[in-house]
Parts: sequence; C-alpha cells; structure tokens
Amino acid sequence: MHKKYLLPTLVLTALFTLLAALGYRAMTRVAPTIGLAAEKRIYLTFDDGPSTAVTERVLDVLKEEGVKATFFIVSDRVAGRESTLRRIAAEGHTLGVHSVNHVYAQIYASEEAFLEDVAGCAAVIRRVTGVEPHVYRFPGGGGKNRARYKALLEERGYEVVAWNAVCGDEEIPHASAETLVRESLETARGKQPVVLLLHDSAHHRETAAALPDIIRRFKEQGYVFCVF
Ligand SMILES: [Zn+2]
Repeated sequence: MHKKYLLPTLVLTALFTLLAALGYRAMTRVAPTIGLAAEKRIYLTFDDGPSTAVTERVLDVLKEEGVKATFFIVSDRVAGRESTLRRIAAEGHTLGVHSVNHVYAQIYASEEAFLEDVAGCAAVIRRVTGVEPHVYRFPGGGGKNRARYKALLEERGYEVVAWNAVCGDEEIPHASAETLVRESLETARGKQPVVLLLHDSAHHRETAAALPDIIRRFKEQGYVFCVF
C-alpha cells in the first residue's frame, strides 16, 4: 500500500471495528433467549404515570442501579411533565401506551373508541419524545373484549404486555415499602421471565421507596433486567 493511504486506512479500520462492536451491543441489549434459556430475566413495568412526585424518583433509582424499565403512559398526565417523559426516553427506558385518561367506560365503549384511545396516547408520546411506541398494556386488564382488542392492536404492530407478578401497590391498601418488596419476591417466585407490575402515579411514593430493595433483591438472585 502506498504510504499516503496507510493512515486513512488505519483510521477507517478502527472506525469500522468500533461500529461493529457498538452494533453488536445494540443487538444484544435485550437478552436473546436462544442459548440463554437458564438466564433469569425480569421486566420492571410501571403503569399510570408520568407523575411529578414518583416518576422522577423512580428514574433516579433506575439510574443509580443501572437498570432499564418499561413505562406505560397515561397521556392526559403528560401536560406539564413533558421533560419527565423525555427523560424516560433519553435514559434508555421503553415508553408504551396505556391510555389517554384511564377511564374504562370511555376506553372500552366501542372498537372505534378503543382505537382512538390507543392512537391518542401514542400521538402524545410521539409528539413529546419522537418515540413511536410499540408496546401496549390494557388499563384494568382489558375487560370482556380483550381478545378482540388484542388482535386489533397486533394488526397495528403493537406487542401487548401483561404481567405475572405484582409489587402489591394497587392490591394491598397502604402497603409499606417493606411489604411491596416482599410481595414482589413472593409473586415472582417460579416465573420465567418475571414481568413485574408497579405504578408510578402520584400516590405511589412507597413504590419508589421500595424500588432500590426490589432491584437489589432480584440482582442478588441473579436476574438480568430487560425492557420490551
Ligand atoms: Zn393502569
């Protein structure tokens, strides 16, 4: 090789090596299941936010612990908290659709109403963060037409995310942080992967308080934290 081409070639080689390494990291960010069947995986999922009191604290804890989570958004709660929504996206968490206002009678009034609700929430997420959401969680579990609504969502490219473990912040009245940690561990036992339901709406300060211990206890048990 002519000497004058040597340096640019070396620079390009280094650049390609770096890009290949980064690409590999991106591909493996969500742990692939093939060959890792024994790996213990947990998905932390937060419903009903954003809120001023809880979501920012939850994000602080996730950052301190180096863990990613999935947030299912109620879009009527975004006004005035746009920066919180953008922070969720910027810090590598997943934004999902939960509803516009969480009012079951409106959401499930008809197929048209349902699809309008989904589109309305997705539009706010897209407008504020630039993220096109690809996951959905039914408010209140989906009701009697769940199967039909699920099919409609899947036709539109959404993955519907349920849960198989709870921290108890909605199920146990006035639960302490300690109780929420215990309930998370108990309901997750034997599940693979664990999809843990938590809430970051305004009255769930105890959930934020419990989160450091919830994360540490699952880390101790060898769980890998994943996002949808
Ligand atoms: Zn909800």
